[in-house]
Amino acid sequence: MLVIMANDTVPPVEPAAEARLRHPEKAHRPDQPVRRGKPDWLRVKAPTSQEYLATRQIVRDHKLATVCEEAACPNIGECWKQRHATMMILGDTCTRACSFCNVATGKPGAVNPHEPLNVALAVQKLGLTHVVITSVDRDDLDDGGAGHFAAVIRQLRALCPETTVEVLTPDFLRKEGALELVVEARPDVFNHNLETVPRLYPEVRPGARYFHSLRLLSDVKRQDPTLFTKSGIMVGLGETKEEVAQVMDDLRSADVDFLTIGQYLQPTPKHHHVDRFVTPDEFQSYARLAKAKGFLLCSASPLTRSSYHADADFERLKAARLASLAAAG
Ligand code: SF4
Repeated sequence: MLVIMANDTVPPVEPAAEARLRHPEKAHRPDQPVRRGKPDWLRVKAPTSQEYLATRQIVRDHKLATVCEEAACPNIGECWKQRHATMMILGDTCTRACSFCNVATGKPGAVNPHEPLNVALAVQKLGLTHVVITSVDRDDLDDGGAGHFAAVIRQLRALCPETTVEVLTPDFLRKEGALELVVEARPDVFNHNLETVPRLYPEVRPGARYFHSLRLLSDVKRQDPTLFTKSGIMVGLGETKEEVAQVMDDLRSADVDFLTIGQYLQPTPKHHHVDRFVTPDEFQSYARLAKAKGFLLCSASPLTRSSYHADADFERLKAARLASLAAAG
């Protein structure tokens, strides 16, 4: 579902306890090798600012979950200092069990009907000009949670009309009509992450289907060509450069506008291992390749995540579309 990573900034949880608590399906798996000696370019400062604490308080006051915390994102100190929190709706428990993901898994509770209003009130209080809304997978719901996404978008439009809205959705696999519900609510950006190359799906994203995710992105553009589409992958999971280039081609075939690429980090020893740390130079070379393949925008760096700098990137995305239309005459 999401680009997830371990965190220098969160106190380490004892692995067995966390596996019992958050990832019951991973508790009996053998430990995966842990790559020590994180390179300098992945080191971040601990979150200590007053603004960080104020953001946390607003999130708590509105009883919201954020992917920033649930995924133990390394960028939380920087993002929350600027009040940029990414809301995770539909609860904090996911029905899938992706091997890279730190979000808790299990049987989710009932959907909170007050969540759309709580999200909008928090966004208003945070003063966000652009907000990213994501969710856990809800395979237990008839519409996969699509109607709730639409309700959140509508509530944001009503309460925060100046705020642009980006959704980062699950794949709505086997949920007929779900995608339409979200598209009809007209977010500004529709994001769905492929996460990795197709060869690694069985071990990284076993509950998902690569070509279904690709089709989803293509369907968004077909249903509403005015929406910006976006997708992301993690690297360092064992993929080759040729495979990444093929994913780029596949995404361009689906007419995806914006690609994000970031380093995968292993949340606990029960999660997928890190195959390698990709260097900043290699990320730059991926970004150049993506531009050459026709993406309007590509953000590629070790700490890039789906929602990292999403507000500034949205402005760049709009400018890139205008430039591209002008160039086409
Ligand atoms: S990069 Fe995204 S998930 Fe990470 S802290 Fe920033 S807003 Fe949250």
